[in-house]
Amino acid sequence: MPASTNFVTTHNQSARDRLHYFRSRQDALLQTICEFIEIESPSDNKPAADRMSAFIAQKFALVGGRPHLHRAEHFGDHLQIDFPGITNAKPVLLLGHFDTVYPLGTLPTMPCRIDNGRLHGPGVLDMKAGITLMLFALEALQSWHGQLPRPVTVFLVSDEEVGSSSSRKITEDLARKSAAVLVLEPAAGLRGAVKTARKGVGDYTLTVKGVAAHAGLDPGKGHSAILELARQIAVISKSNNLKSGISVNPGVIRGGTRTNVVAAEAVAEIDVRIKSAKQAAGLDRKLRALKPFDKRCQLHVEGGINRLPMERNAGVAALYKKAQTIAKQINWKLEEAAVGGGSDGNFTAGIGIPTLDGLGAVGEGAHAVHEHIIISELPRRALLLAGLIESA
Ligand SMILES: [Zn+2]
Repeated sequence: MPASTNFVTTHNQSARDRLHYFRSRQDALLQTICEFIEIESPSDNKPAADRMSAFIAQKFALVGGRPHLHRAEHFGDHLQIDFPGITNAKPVLLLGHFDTVYPLGTLPTMPCRIDNGRLHGPGVLDMKAGITLMLFALEALQSWHGQLPRPVTVFLVSDEEVGSSSSRKITEDLARKSAAVLVLEPAAGLRGAVKTARKGVGDYTLTVKGVAAHAGLDPGKGHSAILELARQIAVISKSNNLKSGISVNPGVIRGGTRTNVVAAEAVAEIDVRIKSAKQAAGLDRKLRALKPFDKRCQLHVEGGINRLPMERNAGVAALYKKAQTIAKQINWKLEEAAVGGGSDGNFTAGIGIPTLDGLGAVGEGAHAVHEHIIISELPRRALLLAGLIESA
């Protein structure tokens, strides 16, 4: 292990030394990623997820972390690990999840294997490699400085793939106590861009109650819920604005009972995506203020925004700039990307804590049979994370 004195020379020198250090740790990194993959941990299996959190806790304890489990009734216990630092500065929060979308028994058909410079396995990209990067970056900082340069909190949840209902509040509480949040979700694309913006996501259900009548005998007495819903969908669809990043999709409709009955009820389920908290509030207000065209029909709107957008605000931009500076020291032009999907980074950015996402591994096929990471990208991802823990 290099002595810390190797790292007090010039910046460029130190960055090259660091890259060299992580290259020398690459095999150990791969081995740990495989250990994590070989403990299957689907979101919907508490005993399996609990085995995973216990195993990860032990790994982080070996590098000086103090693990603490947050009991979850229906999911695996969420894992918080605290590391003290030399200073009393605010901690940086390293955020991730150890649940995967793969059911138990996937491993035999998708074993952990290396092929053509890529490591394959269920959950390798999303995000067992990301957890491993946290572990090795913390270990490295301790070996370089003797102790961590600041306090660090690691928080790994077990329900991210199913909406984070049981971990969200803890994530937000920990973020509020932190100077910044670094999310180890996969990088965007094979160029390895970090994610500086994510869209927000919401789900709404619009139910129309009409008045039923015989379509032949009493057509004038009926007030069709289907006709009313159709007119409402035309109104709702006007909110689509691809240029400003708003999309509204009534993806499911149902209603009516028979062709000879004027429909008493009709329902639309609507997926919405927004780029800013302001758009989220505006769209929410619009949906809740819908008025019936037919006064004898009633409208009920349920649901709401699940994840607020991660906006590229000043805090996010400043973190990205720091990341670019670190990358530049090894001649790496680190790109940024805005993506449509949400992560727990949306929660922490949504409450105003500077957040940088997509700091994890580079690869392809998240949630698919060909999920893999590019092995040669690991050392510089670890270098970037270690640098951000120091400077974020
Ligand atoms: Zn993920």
